[in-house]
Amino acid sequence: MSGCDQPGLLPVEAALERLLAMADAAPINQTESVTLEQADGRVLAEGLISSLDLPPWANSAMDGYALRLADWQGEPLPVSQRILAGTLPSALEPGTCARIFTGAPLPAGADVVEMQENVQLGDDQRVSFSQGMRFGQNVRAQGQETKVGDCVLPVGTRLGPIELGLAASLGADRLVVYRRARVAVLSTGDELIEPGQVLGPGQIYNSNRRLLCAWLQRLGCEVIDAGILADDLQLTRDALAALDDVDLILSTGGVSVGEADFLGAALREEGELALWKLAIKPGKPLTFGAFRGVPVLGLPGNPASTLVTFGLLARPYLLRRMGASKVEPLGFPMPAGFVWSHAGHRREYVRARIENGRVVMHPNQSSGVLRSASWAEGLAEILEGKTLAEGDSLRFIPMSEILG
Ligand code: AMP
Ligand code: MG
Repeated sequence: MSGCDQPGLLPVEAALERLLAMADAAPINQTESVTLEQADGRVLAEGLISSLDLPPWANSAMDGYALRLADWQGEPLPVSQRILAGTLPSALEPGTCARIFTGAPLPAGADVVEMQENVQLGDDQRVSFSQGMRFGQNVRAQGQETKVGDCVLPVGTRLGPIELGLAASLGADRLVVYRRARVAVLSTGDELIEPGQVLGPGQIYNSNRRLLCAWLQRLGCEVIDAGILADDLQLTRDALAALDDVDLILSTGGVSVGEADFLGAALREEGELALWKLAIKPGKPLTFGAFRGVPVLGLPGNPASTLVTFGLLARPYLLRRMGASKVEPLGFPMPAGFVWSHAGHRREYVRARIENGRVVMHPNQSSGVLRSASWAEGLAEILEGKTLAEGDSLRFIPMSEILG
């Protein structure tokens, strides 16, 4: 029996599948039209259809000379015009060539461009070409990249710098996107205080709040920072009730089924509650439910557990609610640079780096530690029930894949 069969633990894929199904059932349908300046990180709600051919006209890919291939019979050709980018050429006079620069429109009648390095300019300013010219060489044909009516960016695309550049190249100055998900961040725990305050006995600084607020902003969410919530049932009820206009309440801490599970207690009373024990390490306990109809996701409090469960589960859930079609991170097979001798019951996400083409792990994998996560370039996935010898392949998920 493999570790995956351990009763009671929900496999990561199954948890993700459930979360995505719930996201699909509660999509954020409202859309807005935003300028390109405002569109970074947003999800496209209307596909971008090109109203242009791109390039809009044939142009030169090189600095050189444009000519009609058939005019080159071995006799040098005179230069009849000079065409700079941004100018309108006249039709090419038969038996001549045109000086032309990169991005300048090809004159009617020309069908090749020879790069300037390959020509000889005679004392009489006539141009001799090389022998091996091909029809259409160094010419960017009209519509080569995009034709009028092409769907260039489909619905569900997450917009980043490349997409914004592409939209700009088509002359689009506004795009229709889904509205941002409004996400409230709650940090629970009597022991928590904020940076800048003096640490008292038994207290620790709240790291999850900054971790999640910054991360959510990068994902294109609107963040409602709900601060620290004390371990108290009535305060928990009140805090949840005040967050009635958000798309998700994201809390950390207090999810291990114990005496201090006030989030669970509040949801049990006035909402719905699912307590999941995930086959994931770090990050076994996860709460999913709703309070008076508002979805609530309770992540484990240890910062590295928060990181892993947010990155692998909450992030795809939120992106899906905002309409994104690609929500899961890319991972790449890489050889392990370490030995994993103890097969676990849970899928382990190890804070790791690539060194000399192999995955090396940080010696401190404690779920409370962010320092090793900051050192790490990614998470190495070690499947439940598996051991690894050095050189065995594992999946490496770059941090950049989950952080953005
Ligand atoms: P809990 O799930 O509330 O029992 O928290 C598990 C561990 O994570 C405890 O050691 C907490 O002190 C710690 N923890 C919970 N929330 C935070 C937070 N926001 N920042 C840093 N550590 C936290
Ligand atoms: Mg706690």
